[in-house]
Amino acid sequence: MHTTNAEALELAPLTPQYDPWDPIRSLGRYGRHTLTSVEFTVTNLCNMRCEHCAVGDSLTMKEGARIPVDRVLRRLEEVERLETISITGGEPMLHEATVRDTIVPLLQYARSRGIRSQINSNATLDLERYELIAPYLDVLHISFNYTDPADFHQVGFVRTGRDVNRETADKLYRRMIDNTEALTRGGLFVSAETMINFRTHKKLPEIHRLIVEMGCQRHEVHPMYPSSFAAGLPLLTLEELRTAIGRLLDARDPNVWMLFGTLPFFACSDRDDDLKIVKRLREAPNVTVRNDPDGRNRLNVNLFTGDVFVTDFANEPPLGSMLTERLDDIFAKWERHPLNLRVNCHCPAAACCGPNLLVADSYYRDVDFHHRQAVV
Ligand code: SF4
Repeated sequence: MHTTNAEALELAPLTPQYDPWDPIRSLGRYGRHTLTSVEFTVTNLCNMRCEHCAVGDSLTMKEGARIPVDRVLRRLEEVERLETISITGGEPMLHEATVRDTIVPLLQYARSRGIRSQINSNATLDLERYELIAPYLDVLHISFNYTDPADFHQVGFVRTGRDVNRETADKLYRRMIDNTEALTRGGLFVSAETMINFRTHKKLPEIHRLIVEMGCQRHEVHPMYPSSFAAGLPLLTLEELRTAIGRLLDARDPNVWMLFGTLPFFACSDRDDDLKIVKRLREAPNVTVRNDPDGRNRLNVNLFTGDVFVTDFANEPPLGSMLTERLDDIFAKWERHPLNLRVNCHCPAAACCGPNLLVADSYYRDVDFHHRQAVV
């Protein structure tokens, strides 16, 4: 039994030096990729339909019953080296019943075992709903890709299949900002994620400024990749991405932690401009580049079907089912999977454990990373 007395736990603050979601830590500690993180898809409902949504095709208008939470907790209890959980959707906070019956018990379990938790939300629901989870939560991860309410209106409802008027969108935009300000003032760690895409790449400094003004302790930045709704959107060139990141680094507030993820720039590149951006990111204060957790130290569990995936936005069939198998055993299957073998390189000197599958597919289709080596 892993459960520990919550009172006795002194949880280390999350900092650029301590990011338990980064698989490079568990790889270093155990000498191989190990399941330390489980992500739960707790709903396929959402009050928005963003044009870039990476799980957009899975969104529904209604859904059935979830697997009872005590059954889920029994499976979690078996994960020997669990360090983090993440809760995602859809919009996990959409219904209060989901929050009370599923999310709070998961977060309470995490807190009692001393493992860290994150929930992904668009932050547009009533503040009271976030106050239900705040006492047990480590990271509220929100999406923020806007410079004003007009951006939010343009991006957030494109796929609803009906007109969402500007007034409704403005109200949600205001609530998202008010919620974030209130929650960060109350001490909750809020990490605002911006994706770099054809709409945002020239506006990142302004978006960053708004995120800092809301009091967010971390700004997370990822390029957009062609998954689900985003599949039809234009992909930026590597040159555009390098320029956008450089511009953001020039303008950022150096006191705020910036976390870059799923970047397509590696220390094994034969291009000078790639190596320059890798070096700049490595040397900038309060900047981290997180290795992709999907399939490295994390699995995704669908709480309706019990299906277990390598990531919540993969088009791949499930690797197994939590209804019949231990999660550690399912992870062992993924380690032998041909897709994993394609991207599971590792250069300790660069603290790099290879590209995300979507990164490899989007920009490096003909590259065999196993034949590359970091240029230190
Ligand atoms: S681990 Fe893979 S992607 Fe990273 S620097 Fe080495 S060869 Fe390149």
